[in-house]
Amino acid sequence: MRTAIIGAGAAGCFCAINIKRLHRDCDVEIFESGTHPLAKVAVTGGGRCNLTNSFRNITNLSEAYPRGDKLMRRALSVFSHENTMDWFEREGVALVTQDDECVFPQSQDAMEIVNTLTRLCRREGVTIHLRSRVNIEQVDDGFMVGNKLFDRVVVTVGGCPKASRLDFLSSLDLAIVPPVPSLFTFNISGNWHQRLMGTVVEDVTVSLAGTKHKSHGAILLTHWGMSGPAILKLSSYAARHLAENDYKGTIAINWCGGRNEEMMRQSLGNMMAANAQKLITNAYPSHLTQSHWLVMLERAGIPVTQRWGALNKKHINRLVTILTADVHHITGRCHFKEEFVTAGGISLSEINIKTMESKRYPGLYFAGEVLDVDAITGGFNLQAAWSMAYVVARNFK
Ligand SMILES: Cc1cc2nc3c(=O)[nH]c(=O)nc-3n(C[C@H](O)[C@H](O)[C@H](O)COP(=O)(O)OP(=O)(O)OC[C@H]3O[C@@H](n4cnc5c(N)ncnc54)[C@H](O)[C@@H]3O)c2cc1C
Repeated sequence: MRTAIIGAGAAGCFCAINIKRLHRDCDVEIFESGTHPLAKVAVTGGGRCNLTNSFRNITNLSEAYPRGDKLMRRALSVFSHENTMDWFEREGVALVTQDDECVFPQSQDAMEIVNTLTRLCRREGVTIHLRSRVNIEQVDDGFMVGNKLFDRVVVTVGGCPKASRLDFLSSLDLAIVPPVPSLFTFNISGNWHQRLMGTVVEDVTVSLAGTKHKSHGAILLTHWGMSGPAILKLSSYAARHLAENDYKGTIAINWCGGRNEEMMRQSLGNMMAANAQKLITNAYPSHLTQSHWLVMLERAGIPVTQRWGALNKKHINRLVTILTADVHHITGRCHFKEEFVTAGGISLSEINIKTMESKRYPGLYFAGEVLDVDAITGGFNLQAAWSMAYVVARNFK
C-alpha cells in the first residue's frame, strides 16, 4: 500500500513511523514544503520542546482544548500522554515533568525530539521529499499527489492563519472553519503597565467583558500590555470572538485569586485595623509588589502620604474595585510571541473522529493542527499531534 503524508511536522513524522511499525507492507513517503523536517518542533517550548503534559490540572478536556475536546477525548483514549511518554522513553529520550505539569526532554533540548523522529523515519524506511509542495487530486484508484499515485494520503500540514495555505486541497472542496490565530498576548491602553514591566502576579482571574470567557493563572506585565498563562489561555478561549472584534475588547481583572468584593472589603478592613499608623505605601496585600501597589494607589487617587487608619469609604471602594474588577482595554494583539497556534482549519464535520478518515474521501486522513483542533499552552498542542497521528496509523485499513 502506497501512502503519502503531506507535511513533515510533528504529526506527519510521528504518523509515518507508526504506520511503518503497525503495517509492514506500507510504503510511506512524506512531502514537505520546507527545507527541513520538524522545523517547528525545533523551536517549541523556547527550544526545549514541551512535548506533553501530565494532565493532572485538567478536570475537563475543554479547558485544555477549546476546539476539538470531543475528538481529543477519543484520541487520548487510544494514545494518551502516558503512551507518549512511554513511546519517547522507549526510544531513549529521558523526560522530566515540571512542577507546572509540563513535560520536557531531560536534555532541555528540542533537537533531541527532532533527531529521534528523523532517525526513526530513516530507520523505518520512510522517504522524506523536502522542498515539495504538491497538489492532491482524487482519481479512480486512489489519489494523485504531484504526479504520483497513492492509495492513502494523510494531510498533516499544520496550522496557519492564512486560509490560502489549504488551497492545495481545493479540488476536494472540503469544509474549512476560517483559521484565526490563538495564543497571543494583549496590547493594553495606557502606560501604567510599562512602569511594571516584568512584574508577575500569580493567582489572577481575568474575564472578557460581554462574553463568558474567563481564565485563571499568572499575569506578566509587559511594556506593551499583558502576557502570561492567564492571558494566553484567555486568548485561546476567546480566539474567534477577538478576531471578529479586531482584537479590541475590555477585560476585568481580579488580582486577588478570585476573592470577591465582600472578602476584599473585609481583608482591607483587617489591614486598616492592623496598620492604622502606617503609611498606605508601607503595608499592602502580600501577593502584590510595592511598585504595583503604588500604581494602584495612584489609579485610585489615594496620596502616598495617606495613613491606613485615615482611609475613607470612597478610598476603600476604589481600592476594592481595582483589586477585584480592574477594567482595562485591549487595543490589539501582540505579534511578538513565543508560541502561537491556529484555531480553525479543516472542519471536524469532514472526518470520522474514530479513525481521522475523511467521510467523503475514503483513504484520505487528517491529523494535527490542520484540523479545527487546538489547545492552550502546556504541551497539549503537541500531544494532540501525537495522539491524532497515532489514531491514523492504528486505523489504517
Ligand atoms: C514558536 C512555537 C512554539 C511552540 N511550542 C509548543 C510547545 O512547547 N508545546 C506544544 O505542545 N506546542 C507548541 N507549539 C505548537 C506546536 O508546535 C504545533 O501545534 C505542532 O507542531 C503541530 O504539529 P503539526 O504536525 O500539525 O504541524 P507542524 O509541526 O507545523 O508541521 C506541519 C508541516 O507541514 C509543512 N507544510 C505546510 N504546508 C505544506 C504543504 N502544502 N505541502 C507540504 N508540506 C507542508 C510545514 O512546513 C511543516 O513542516 C508551538 C508553536 C510555535 C509556533
